[in-house]
Amino acid sequence: MSGDTLFRGPSDLHTHSRVSDGTESPSRLVREAAAAGLGVVALTDHDSTAGWHEAAGEAQKQNITFLPGMEFSTRYGYKSVHLLAYLFDPLSAELVAETARIRESRLKRAESIVRRIGVDYALDWDDVLAQTTPGATVGRPHIADALVARGHVPTRSEAFTGILHPRNGYYLPHYAPDPLLAVTLVRRAGGVPVIAHPATRGRDAMIDEQHLAKLVDAGLFGLEIDHRENTDDGKVRLRELAKKFGLVLTGSSDYHGAGKPNRLGENTTTDAVVQAIIAEGTGSQPVYPPEL
Ligand code: AMP
Ligand code: FE
Ligand code: FE
Ligand code: ZN
Repeated sequence: MSGDTLFRGPSDLHTHSRVSDGTESPSRLVREAAAAGLGVVALTDHDSTAGWHEAAGEAQKQNITFLPGMEFSTRYGYKSVHLLAYLFDPLSAELVAETARIRESRLKRAESIVRRIGVDYALDWDDVLAQTTPGATVGRPHIADALVARGHVPTRSEAFTGILHPRNGYYLPHYAPDPLLAVTLVRRAGGVPVIAHPATRGRDAMIDEQHLAKLVDAGLFGLEIDHRENTDDGKVRLRELAKKFGLVLTGSSDYHGAGKPNRLGENTTTDAVVQAIIAEGTGSQPVYPPEL
């Protein structure tokens, strides 16, 4: 592709398949992206690159561009921070080891949460397995789906606001690295790190400027601003911070199939920013459509 060729349509850089907590296969997700008129789709399953190959193959058939990605689980104090990572080397040994550690901890934590719920509700681990694709990154969404299947709650979202909410006594955390380590690992693997939905709790609960400065020094490249869960006052602050630190701003759906109301393409990223991300990433390649 020549440097200034436009993509076939808008770009959605944050989506989940059944490789983590989305409900569609990677290929179905890419078909839906093409049907929604997108020209570029990134697959960003939690802590896993296992869907890249399937998604890339389908993107070629659908004539759209595929951007390999991941949503890296990190934690700062009590706060969970999600880091989107694009175009890193999926074989980076240190990154592979870290994501494996997170997935193993997620699995043990999910088993423990299910044991705790099982004291009060009819629910066991087989119920969760029935909702999970083998090898997937397991999370509360799979437990939520099992609670729905058992008839304890009507929808996945209501499981999150009820039984699975941290205040309701069943919740447990899982291992996650510090954001600074995650940014460093992504960069060392040739990837491009962008903080996902940084303002879901409003501007006052956002990452503070000194901490952000450290992440920028370690190679942070952008902030996801257009996301349905970022608050309006938080977006104003994100714009200020991006300007101050020279960060790009992205927009995406955070599509989870039927698991969340978020629709593909409901937020998008400008072509200029997508091209900047592509120019920055050296660990893997976007997959362009055959005739672009
Ligand atoms: P966990 O990482 O296991 O604590 O679970 C949190 C994850 O659940 C986040 O990545 C959310 O995006 C995801 N999630 C999926 N569906 C929903 C939903 N309907 N409501 C809230 N969170 C959801
Ligand atoms: Fe998710
Ligand atoms: Fe997230
Ligand atoms: Zn996400």
